[in-house]
Amino acid sequence: MRTIYVDNAATTAMSDTAIAAMTDYYKTVYGNPSSLHTVGQQAKEALEGFRGRVARCLNCEPREIYFTSGGSEADNQCIRSAALLGARKGKKHIISTAFEHHAVLHTLKKLEKEGFEVTYLDVHENGLVTADEVAAAIREDTALVTVMFANNEVGTVQPIEEIGAVCRKKGVIFHTDAVQAAGHIPVDVKLQNVDMLSLSAHKFHGPKGVGALYCRRGIPLLTFVEGGAQERGKRAGTENLAGIAGMTAALEEACANMEKNSAKLLKLREKLIDGLLKIPHSKLNGDRHKRLPANVNMCFEGIEGESLLLLLDAKGICASSGSACTSGSLDPSHVLLALGLPHEVAHGSLRISLSESNTEADVDYIISEVPKVVEYLRGISPVWEKLEKGIQEHLI
Ligand SMILES: *Cc1c(COP(=O)(O)O)cnc(C)c1O
Repeated sequence: MRTIYVDNAATTAMSDTAIAAMTDYYKTVYGNPSSLHTVGQQAKEALEGFRGRVARCLNCEPREIYFTSGGSEADNQCIRSAALLGARKGKKHIISTAFEHHAVLHTLKKLEKEGFEVTYLDVHENGLVTADEVAAAIREDTALVTVMFANNEVGTVQPIEEIGAVCRKKGVIFHTDAVQAAGHIPVDVKLQNVDMLSLSAHKFHGPKGVGALYCRRGIPLLTFVEGGAQERGKRAGTENLAGIAGMTAALEEACANMEKNSAKLLKLREKLIDGLLKIPHSKLNGDRHKRLPANVNMCFEGIEGESLLLLLDAKGICASSGSACTSGSLDPSHVLLALGLPHEVAHGSLRISLSESNTEADVDYIISEVPKVVEYLRGISPVWEKLEKGIQEHLI
């Protein structure tokens, strides 16, 4: 049986370009960039070359890029840095949204325990917040606004440029978790008024365990790992040069092919949404148009997302019921609840995140199999029976 992988928001397969870019840095340029000899200095030169190339992809300066172990670390470091900077000026208020990734939410929860106050903006039913809502929440003591670029579950893309403009005008640092956006939709930190940004290589066909953060010149970054002068003293540890090479190649490739890939993905996405919406009592989560080209997130009333997932897996379809980080727990996704979906409905969710290597045949297969599985699960669901008999009212 063929496997149809449609869980690209959880992670992606590496591109051949990225894999090819890495091998040199394991075999030939394997030096430690901190070593003073030739092999070390070759590595140092390569490292700075990659920094420049990543910077070009985001439209910033090389010295504004810091390499990290991934998106989670970048989120932690950006948020903690801005919080510390704020606290030094007596500003201990942070603005975010209720549906951020846990790398952001858990960092904020910890900061709350340390005496910070966090305003979590409500997300509208369409999965969006507005710049006006951000503006209205900003106070004299606001140190940071952190709003994700694109959501990892429902794929909605926030008005980043407008939110950035509001923050710039009010002199508040603006961080965005762009892990789902980078390499998929245009990211330009200058144009979009972004002060700090996080990205992760494995979400755009690069290797796992490597990412980067952008920190605008003039904003002091916290030393996140002690022990050496790497990353200009902000993150000690011998650099993952091969990983950084793979990330750089993958990012450049993704950016170069963005228009072509988006056009293909949009077609597949729209076909998939139309096909799945034919299932009775189903719903698309998040705005239909202001979403990532590769994201489809649906709810089907009367079923459990986990059961749906396992039965689809048995048919060779690898999808997700939401965030990979919360799978295994029986709580419905905090993202879907933030969109205002009732618990019962949020339980029956399915996230399909495509990649450019998916085909129309994949989409046709998904459209033919999902309705059968949903029908089967509804047939054995006591909740569905109550809905059908009118004992309980349909919510969607
Ligand atoms: C995957 C993801 C992260 C975490 O990135 P890692 O590199 O896996 O640590 C953070 N934020 C979002 C939105 C993500 O999708």
